[in-house]
Amino acid sequence: MDTSVPSGIQTLSEEVVHLIAAGEVIDSLAAVVRELAENALDAGASRISISVWAEQWRVRVADNGRGMERHDLQQAALPHSTSKIRSSADLWRVHSLGFRGEALHSLAQLADLEICSRSHADEGWRIRYNSQGEPVYTEAVAIAPGTIVTVSYLFANWMPRRQGLPSAAQQLRAIQLVIQQLALCHPQVTWQLEQEAIASVAHETRPWFTLWAGASAQQILPQLLRDVQPGDLQEWSSPDASLYLLLGLPDRCHRHRPDWVKVAVNGRIVKIPELEQVIFAALRRTLPRDRHPVCFLHLHLPPGQIDWNRHPAKAEIYLHHLEDWKTQIAAAIDAALRLNPSSVADSAYNSRIGQVIRAAEAAGSYGDADREDGSDPDVPIAPLIPLKALAQIHQMYILAEHPEGMWLIEQHIAHERVLYEQLSDRWQLVPLEPPVILNQLLPTQIEQLQRLGIAVEPFGDRLWAVRLAPEPLAQRSDCAEALTELSFGGDLDTAIVATACRTAIRNGTPLSLEEMQALLNQWQNTRNPRTCPHGRPIYLQLEESSLSRFFRRHWVIGKSHGI
Ligand SMILES: [Zn+2]
Repeated sequence: MDTSVPSGIQTLSEEVVHLIAAGEVIDSLAAVVRELAENALDAGASRISISVWAEQWRVRVADNGRGMERHDLQQAALPHSTSKIRSSADLWRVHSLGFRGEALHSLAQLADLEICSRSHADEGWRIRYNSQGEPVYTEAVAIAPGTIVTVSYLFANWMPRRQGLPSAAQQLRAIQLVIQQLALCHPQVTWQLEQEAIASVAHETRPWFTLWAGASAQQILPQLLRDVQPGDLQEWSSPDASLYLLLGLPDRCHRHRPDWVKVAVNGRIVKIPELEQVIFAALRRTLPRDRHPVCFLHLHLPPGQIDWNRHPAKAEIYLHHLEDWKTQIAAAIDAALRLNPSSVADSAYNSRIGQVIRAAEAAGSYGDADREDGSDPDVPIAPLIPLKALAQIHQMYILAEHPEGMWLIEQHIAHERVLYEQLSDRWQLVPLEPPVILNQLLPTQIEQLQRLGIAVEPFGDRLWAVRLAPEPLAQRSDCAEALTELSFGGDLDTAIVATACRTAIRNGTPLSLEEMQALLNQWQNTRNPRTCPHGRPIYLQLEESSLSRFFRRHWVIGKSHGI
């Protein structure tokens, strides 16, 4: 126990009171749930049960955290009391969620408030408070260690506020969102929600939803998004644990709407638009058109690096060292997208290869933000994972053996991914000798080529000479056709995609084993081997464990079946 932290509840100075009051707004049932749930988290709870009677304007939150002793409980709802801060400077130093103690006083003012609590050292107590937060009734109760807060008749003395709020159904939806966000940020907690049973005369409750505790957000997110499995997600943590990233793998999950990029700071979902933009940008060209990523980012930082005053109501904040964070986040996404042992299957790697990769990680070469290394096409690339080309199927798929199963890789888009990344790193225009002659160009096409750095000169009647072309197109017999395609519009990235697609090995092209192996090695070292620049999945993985299930290898039949 840290004895330097003052225990018990302190009365705050006037100055702090105003600061707190500004940020602490109880404006809905969801706000009540959020405040009480965050109090429970601060008390170290691992199980939080919440009952909601939306029609009755009543909420009960029960936790198994550290309870309060009688003395603290009697002061808990007094004005300007909190166990966490004593001066305005403390506000910026608190490591816990916020300045929560004040919420109880607000709740006493806005509703009937009752708290039962029991610390390990004390027996349990039930206290009811008046609207000033003073205890008006105290009795001993037999309860398990922890705290149960009941808030009833919310806004009963302030009917206009009730009338301004959305329907009970919408308030329940808001509560669900609050709990989902808290669960992602605090995966160690099991949440059990109940709501009032339909047509219940006695206001009984029925189970609503449960979120089970997990080792990390990777076990929580699949409970929130149907169709997402833990294996569809890749985690990444910085060595100092200040950055945690959970990324939906682009070949396995994405959304219709850009609604699942969430950023949390110190246990709370917040809005930092600059960081959301970094995430969307880092995942460009990994998803199909009009699909959006699934990503949860959690930063843990000293409170001094956060400025909560940006937009308190919307929880929009400023971060210090923003540029550093942007760089780190882009590097983390980069690391999460690459093929590595944990993103394929933990068991899929023999320990020797695992050691090689871990050694490379420790040396900083793996997941490094510097994208130049490893992209030199002249240096033979060491395979990250042991994929062995076995055969070509329909002159379209490479069948590869892997220690834990087999993979099918579509040759055209795997090569397209390789070329796309090479061209993104090094887009070069080379002279055309002799020039390529194009005809019938519209002024917009000429402008477009010039925007891409490709100069065009008149060359006679409705003919134009082009003397520069992207390097991979220069020697091709369809160079004129390719340049015409580029003249139809789009930015440089679009031109790179078009060039990669045109120059990648076509489906229908026969490949030797050596060529297939070389392509596999290059492809698995790309920054995003999972999807092509149009967002299509590149490979299909058949794990030995699933094959074994399919072939019912656990059946004991007899020697005649070769078992
Ligand atoms: Zn293509």
